[in-house]
Amino acid sequence: MALFGGIEAGGTKFVCAVGTGPDDIRAEIRFPTGPPQESIQQAVAFFQEQQAQGEPLAAVGIASFGPVDPNPDSPTFGYVTTTPKPGWAFTDFAGAVSRALDLPVGFDTDVNGAALGEHRWGAAQGLDTFIYLTIGTGLGGGGMVNGRLIHGLMHPEMGHIRIPHDWGKDPYPGFCIYHGDCLEGLSAGPALEGRWGQRGETLPPDHPAWPLEAHYLALGLVNFICTLSPQRIIMGGGVMEQRQLFPLIRARVQALLNNYLQLPAILERIDEYIVPPGLGSRAGVLGAIALAQDALARQQGAQGEGG
Ligand code: ZN
Repeated sequence: MALFGGIEAGGTKFVCAVGTGPDDIRAEIRFPTGPPQESIQQAVAFFQEQQAQGEPLAAVGIASFGPVDPNPDSPTFGYVTTTPKPGWAFTDFAGAVSRALDLPVGFDTDVNGAALGEHRWGAAQGLDTFIYLTIGTGLGGGGMVNGRLIHGLMHPEMGHIRIPHDWGKDPYPGFCIYHGDCLEGLSAGPALEGRWGQRGETLPPDHPAWPLEAHYLALGLVNFICTLSPQRIIMGGGVMEQRQLFPLIRARVQALLNNYLQLPAILERIDEYIVPPGLGSRAGVLGAIALAQDALARQQGAQGEGG
């Protein structure tokens, strides 16, 4: 079976792996995200070493922080585009990896990548419409609609939806540099620290931070439920390691929907509807491997049509 390389490129760290799926990862490295040339070169060197030691790779997948250009027909396909991250704006990420290794490269957002990994091997198996959210230093969302990863004008930016904010109950202004109190600005990790003066993981499970956090996340979820009609919602990332959030979020989603959607998935089986990732913290890098598999399949399909 062909081997694949995966790069989960986060704003703070890169995870690179070689393998075929969750039960077959042959090698893995992680390193802090540095300037683009340096980080991309580190990833390429890792894959070259692996190739020198054994079977060659068939393709590489990149699940990247963004914003990115995921449109294969665009002249800037594979670029990290307008990111405020120093040095990374308009970096030809996929092109640099593809040229260095002479391989097909699959490329998407980190959250669409993780969604694809969950679809292939995790909590979204057998579904065709679902979303994957990560809540950590930021809040990102991706997923599938009708069996295809969600693209369009660009890609979803679910963290930046606007939600009601009761300034009387919560005077924290939010941290988003564009919007202040968008969903990300009010609920991602830095908001917990900014509002309560200490990092989320140091707050006890019965702290009032958590019902407020669950309220904001549930406001986001009811908007996504009503617009995309997901069959399941997967929530990962550092903030969701606080497992006491899951029952709080589920109850709040039910309360906010107020019996409008009379569906067993929401009224009776919400424990199976709003869930942690089946692949845990490995959804991202495994998703990158899934992107590589799809890139190879697309190339082989194109060659088949051409020949
Ligand atoms: Zn925002």
